[in-house]
This record gives sequence, structure tokens and C-alpha cells, in this order.
Amino acid sequence: MAIYVHCPHCHEHVADMADACPHCGEALPIGVVQALSSALGTAPPPASFMGTEWVPTHVTQTPPQTYVAHHSVLRPWLAAVLSLICGLGQFYNGQFVKGLVLLGGAAVWVAAIAVLQSSLATVIAPLWWVYAIVDAYLVGRRG
Ligand SMILES: [Zn+2]
Repeated sequence: MAIYVHCPHCHEHVADMADACPHCGEALPIGVVQALSSALGTAPPPASFMGTEWVPTHVTQTPPQTYVAHHSVLRPWLAAVLSLICGLGQFYNGQFVKGLVLLGGAAVWVAAIAVLQSSLATVIAPLWWVYAIVDAYLVGRRG
């Protein structure tokens, strides 16, 4: 079986299971030894290789989570701020039907206050807005 594992030091083919390059004598990185092992279908490299080197290499390859965490902190607040225009925070959260209902309801309450001078609407409208903002914040925090 042809294998295509190269020594990172001298770029020669390494065709046999080894923990050092047969061409230049440099120690092979654990990734190269693993590739050799799987390409040749042989047993994994010696236990001495698995212990100290492999684990730290694996840990440092874990991608940092800081950006994702930062973003998910900002997201619910942005949704809440957008809800100052009633329903926009729901659109931002991807809840289009709820956003439309909240936006339509807000329009009805504002019209009822402006045109009919409805005292009921002046009570309901602020609650409607508070609900839209709180809902956008909570849903944004979940997503
Ligand atoms: Zn080499």
C-alpha cells in the first residue's frame, strides 16, 4: 500500500512505522506518527508518545470561546433595544409571526390612543411594549 507521509524536516517520504525520520534522524511530530500508524494499519505509537506530548497538543488546538460568549451576551440586549420599535426585536430573534402580531398590536393601541383617546389603550400600550422588550431579551438570551 502506498502511503504519502512526509517528514516535516527534510520532506522525504516516511514509509515505515517509526518515531524518528529514517532520512534525517529528526524526531517525528505526534501527528505524523499518528498518520503513519493509520496509513500503515499498524498499532498506535508507543505509550511514551501518547502521554506527555499528545494531550497538550490536543488541548491547545481547542478553539477559544471568547468571541462566541461575548456575542451571546450582547445579543439579548440588542434584541431588547430593537424592541423600542415594537416587534423588531422579535424579527431579530427570527420570530416573524410574533413580531408581526406585536407590531400590528402596537399600531392598533397607538391608533386607539390618538384617534379614540381610549383610556384602556393608554394602559395596555405600555404593557404591550414592556412585554415585547422583555420577550425579545429572554428569547435573545436563549438563542
Ligand atoms: Zn527527515
